Amino acid sequence: MKPIYEPKGRAKEYGDYALNIYTGCPHRCYYCFAPSVLHKDREAFHSNVEPRKGIVEAVKRQLISENIKEKLIHLCFTCDPYPIGHDSGVTREIIKLIKNSGNHVQILTKNGIGAQRDFDLLDNKDWFGVTYAGYKTTPVVPPEEEQNAGWPIDRFRALVLAKNKGVNTWVSCEPVFDAEAIYRLIENGAYIDLFKIGKLNYHPSVINWGAFGRECERLCKKHNRQYYIKEDLRAMI
Ligand code: SF4
Repeated sequence: MKPIYEPKGRAKEYGDYALNIYTGCPHRCYYCFAPSVLHKDREAFHSNVEPRKGIVEAVKRQLISENIKEKLIHLCFTCDPYPIGHDSGVTREIIKLIKNSGNHVQILTKNGIGAQRDFDLLDNKDWFGVTYAGYKTTPVVPPEEEQNAGWPIDRFRALVLAKNKGVNTWVSCEPVFDAEAIYRLIENGAYIDLFKIGKLNYHPSVINWGAFGRECERLCKKHNRQYYIKEDLRAMI
């Protein structure tokens, strides 16, 4: 097994290297693409969550045998590196391996509380990020769209903590459910170093994506935010 890989297609917009630690994810986002990517039954994917067999040893071997250095490695695409209700100790071991080999991590999670445990391992060459899609519910309950994920308010708190520790912060605004909520985040998100903005794919939406993308760009420029508009959305602006 060579768990560190170069993503292809859309996933490449997130990073040059990636690593998936767990076999599934308990967060039950209704839009989750991972079961189809992995050719897994959706229920089994959300129910059977454990570290991939031999993942720590395989990462260690690959880092040495391929002499991987100075790379930014994305955690994770087909799972969350901090699955709520599960032991995420393996994530900590893997971050240590990556850092000790002279590489850096780009974390993406929906578990703002769980992720804070590992902030002591991160520095100013790492990126800590959360997903924020703009939800129907208030930020102090789990979003309806992501049944078992962490509260949005905890994701924001984790970003602020990471920023205060000198770690780079980013937000993945993809999918997007509520355009206005994303506009507010851009306006108020001075603690966010990079906004990656996409759209909702494969599901119906009332959002005018062209207008949404243009307004996001306008606000990012107005408030001097670093941003990246994902190709799917860029094509509609
Ligand atoms: S957090 Fe990510 S991997 Fe987990 S269910 Fe949601 S979309 Fe899927």
